[in-house]
Amino acid sequence: MVLCSYQNQIYEALGDVEQTAKMVDKDQINEIGKIILDHEYEEDVCVIIAHRHFNLAQDEAMLETLEGKSRVSRPVSWENIASMGAFPNVITCTRENQWYPVGYGTRTSETRPCSEKEFTEGIPTTYSFARGKNGQVEQGCNRGCRPTQAGHVIVHIG
Ligand SMILES: [Zn+2]
Repeated sequence: MVLCSYQNQIYEALGDVEQTAKMVDKDQINEIGKIILDHEYEEDVCVIIAHRHFNLAQDEAMLETLEGKSRVSRPVSWENIASMGAFPNVITCTRENQWYPVGYGTRTSETRPCSEKEFTEGIPTTYSFARGKNGQVEQGCNRGCRPTQAGHVIVHIG
């Protein structure tokens, strides 16, 4: 897999979180989880419902940072993302089988499972996987999204 350079129009083509989350079900997500577990990538790879909330300027990308106990994604100018040493932390595959970054993060980000409250108040968007006692795929939600009014900064919990 070769990761292509960031392109604003790839981010802009992502769907609304509520519609996008409905495009897949738990079984489909678990099928991907099985592949991740079979190749022992569970410590490094999650399945994310990539989505967008608003349009970005041509020179912006979404940057996720840890703020208190929450991971917060905000639009940041491309110039600032590069100077912060951020790396692609959300990538998506197009119908042409090309992989593109659609979100960035910094090393200060960390993952923890959603609390029950966060899970029920938000839409689950990030799934991690582990093997159960009998080898079955066990799915966990690491992040949820709380859709708010269009144009506002969105807090990604988790
Ligand atoms: Zn979101």
